[in-house]
Amino acid sequence: MKSIATLGSHCSLQVLKGAKDEGLKTLLVCEKKRERLYKRFPFIDDLIMVDSFKEVLEQRCQSFLEQNNAVLIPHGTLIAQMSSDEIESIRTPVFGNKWILRWESDREMKERLMREAGLPMPEPVAEPGKIERLSIVKRHGAAGGKGYFMVASEDDYNIKRDQLISEGIISKDETLYIQEYVAGVLAYLTFFYSPLKGELEFYGVDQRHESDIEGLSRIPAEQQLKSSRVPSFNVIGNSPLVLRESLLDEVYAMGEKFVDAAKRIVAPGMNGPFCIEGVYDENAKFTSFEFSARIVAGSNIYMDGSPYYSLLFDETMSMGKRIAREIRLASESNQMDKITT
Ligand code: AMP
Repeated sequence: MKSIATLGSHCSLQVLKGAKDEGLKTLLVCEKKRERLYKRFPFIDDLIMVDSFKEVLEQRCQSFLEQNNAVLIPHGTLIAQMSSDEIESIRTPVFGNKWILRWESDREMKERLMREAGLPMPEPVAEPGKIERLSIVKRHGAAGGKGYFMVASEDDYNIKRDQLISEGIISKDETLYIQEYVAGVLAYLTFFYSPLKGELEFYGVDQRHESDIEGLSRIPAEQQLKSSRVPSFNVIGNSPLVLRESLLDEVYAMGEKFVDAAKRIVAPGMNGPFCIEGVYDENAKFTSFEFSARIVAGSNIYMDGSPYYSLLFDETMSMGKRIAREIRLASESNQMDKITT
C-alpha cells in the first residue's frame, strides 16, 4: 500500500486527513517541538521525529519513507526551509513536479514562466533608481510576505531597507525584487491539473490576511502618518472568496495557459495543485504577481470541500483528498511515473 508523507506544518493536516479518507497510510515528518500538536490527530499513522525538517534528506528518513512506499507531498514549508538543490536531491518520489519548485523560488525564473503563460503581470522595476510610482519590494523564496515593503521613490526605498536591516528582518546582502504595486481585490486562484485525466480543475479562491498591512487600514491616516513602522505582508490566515461567475471562463483560460507553458518549458509540466495569485482591478482585469507550483495553505479553508469542487464531485473533496485520489488511481493503474518526480 502507498503512504502519503509530508512535513508537519502548512497544510499537513488537510493532506493527511485526505489521504486517510482515500484509504492510504499517513506519515508525518514532525519537529519534536510540535509532537504534542500532531499527536492530537488520529488519522496520522506514524510520526517521524526530527529536530529540523532538513533531516528529510538524511538516510534515516529516506529509508523509512522508502520502506513505507511513501510519496512526499511538497508544500510551502518545504520550499521555505530547503534550497532548490536540496529539494531536487530528495530520493523519495515527490508528488507533482519537483523541478518546477525551483521556478517558484527564483524570481527571474518565475517571471519567465509567467510570461511564457501570458499572464498579465505588474511591471518589474529593474533597480531602486527606477522607482517612479508605488511599488512593492519583495524577498526571494517563499518568505510568506515577511520583510516585504512598499515604496514610492529611491529615497523611500533606502530608508525602509536600512530600517529593516537594522531590525534584523532582512539581511544586508540580500537581493530584493521590486515590482509595481497593483491595487484591487486580492484573489488566490487554486487549480489542480490531473496528468492521468489530462484535465484542469478549478478548486477555489482564497484571500490572505496579512499582518500588519491589514492592521494599518484600521488606523486613521492621522496616526498612520506619525508612525515610522514599516508594515509587513506576513500571512496570518486565509478566508474564502467566490468570484462573479462571469470571471470563471477567464480563470480557466489562465490555468490552462499556465499548464501549457509549464509543459513546454519545465518537463513534465504543472502536475497536481497550483495557485495563480493576483489582483482584480476596478475593471475586473486580473494582474498576477505570483504563482505557487504546489498546494497552497489557502486550500485549508476548504477541508470540507470547496464551492467549485462541489460542482465537479458528488462527494466532499478537499485538495488533500484530491491529491490522494490521484495517487491511489495512479498506483492502481501502474502510472506512478506520470504523477511523481
Ligand atoms: P507574494 O510573496 O508575491 O505572494 O506577496 C505577498 C503579498 O504581498 C501578497 O499576498 C499581496 O498582498 C502583496 N503583493 C505582492 N505583490 C503585489 C503587487 N504587485 N501588488 C500588490 N500587492 C502585492
